[in-house]
Amino acid sequence: MKFIEIKNCYKIYKNGVSAIADLNLEIKKGEFVFVIGPTASGKSTFIKMLYREEKPTKGEVIVGGINVAKLRNSKVYKLRRKLGVVFQDFKLLPKLTVYENVSFGLESLGIKNEEIKPKVFKALEKVGLKDKYRSFPDQLSGGEQQRVCIARAIVNGPKLLICDEPTGNLDPDTSKEIMKVIEKINQEGTTVVMATHDRDIVNRMKKRVIVIDNGVLTGDYEKGGYKVHESN
Ligand code: ADP
Ligand code: MG
Repeated sequence: MKFIEIKNCYKIYKNGVSAIADLNLEIKKGEFVFVIGPTASGKSTFIKMLYREEKPTKGEVIVGGINVAKLRNSKVYKLRRKLGVVFQDFKLLPKLTVYENVSFGLESLGIKNEEIKPKVFKALEKVGLKDKYRSFPDQLSGGEQQRVCIARAIVNGPKLLICDEPTGNLDPDTSKEIMKVIEKINQEGTTVVMATHDRDIVNRMKKRVIVIDNGVLTGDYEKGGYKVHESN
């Protein structure tokens, strides 16, 4: 079953930079997809179009039946409810506890108060951080902070988990742990789209690999490895 559909998609930024050109792609429900490519090839732009951080200049982006490009600003929450996003820099709120960082935003999604607590603890349990719910971000290691971000991303049971270089700031062992968590979430049915340039992770996990080079799709491999022409 199709979950993400990209048709003849272009993104030209206001300054004239063409970041994505004629992208066509389908991702099925439950898939795990790596998006790889050299720096500035358009990986983040592609990712941002999935959650409507950026609109395509031309073409269609459909996520879970929602026509993302055409979505009115007032309806973007309907899309965001279906997905969670994890970034390279943790973007946790420093003055909030782990619990509060994960629960923050659930109220505005219209989740009832009595449902919030069990959802937060379930998410923290999934990432192995239930015991640290009262800690503050600066009391946690980098890997733990990233696990809080994953908990925050999955707390409302999204159909799609989007990750942009989630291991970019982590050492190899911690990256492995983070990938175990993300893989488990995928095995439980969540579609995962992850931009990365972590060669070891991509080679080890043998998932679908999409290669974007200079804004153009140059490869799509079923159980791929890390094949990127790095010019530097
Ligand atoms: P990647 O994630 O693969 O490193 P990006 O999608 O971030 O690549 O960037 C692709 C190209 O688009 C780059 O040339 C970058 O400089 C440009 N770009 C990214 N964001 C913007 C923006 N907001 N405005 C103008 N140009 C941008
Ligand atoms: Mg990027």
